Amino acid sequence: SMVDIDEVVATALDRSRHLAEQRSVSLTTSGARGLSIRGSRDQLITALVNLLHNAIHYSDTKARVVVTTRLVPSPDGDKIAIGVSDNGIGISEEDQRRVFERFYRVDFARSRQTGGTGLGLSIVNEIVEAHGGSITLWSRVGSGSTFTMELPAAPDLEEDA
Ligand code: ATP
Ligand code: MG
Repeated sequence: SMVDIDEVVATALDRSRHLAEQRSVSLTTSGARGLSIRGSRDQLITALVNLLHNAIHYSDTKARVVVTTRLVPSPDGDKIAIGVSDNGIGISEEDQRRVFERFYRVDFARSRQTGGTGLGLSIVNEIVEAHGGSITLWSRVGSGSTFTMELPAAPDLEEDA
């Protein structure tokens, strides 16, 4: 069914606000509004909440986390990109290749303090793939990370009619 991306982002931000406030991390949005895709609202919220929780957890307090939404035109069907950027600790090139694996956590001793299982990103990856999309990661140690989910846009039915 049709999923309203604005509603997904608003709900994911609501579910992350408490954690963000605890860590004095600012949460903001930027980019296009009124986008929609076909798929599961609940799964997309789960994916976005996982990315937001990581962005908040693996940043210093007072960090800034931004959710960006945009339409990416493409000859083989437009895509919708939902990005989560932080200015946190970053991920080394070596670890970037592995973070989507189940149970993989960078620096076990440090990660243990945050009490996760290392499953979050593998779940995000599964959800994105189930929607026919892909996820990309840009990161630099000490600068921050951006995880971008690219999902096929729902065709504009009004234009077809
Ligand atoms: P879980 O999500 O299951 O609670 P987790 O956060 O450790 O546990 P993932 O979400 O899969 O598991 O992330 C894997 C690892 O990737 C994390 O342990 C962390 O080391 C690293 N990581 C993920 N997101 C970021 C980020 N935004 N900045 C820096 N490191 C990150
Ligand atoms: Mg996680």
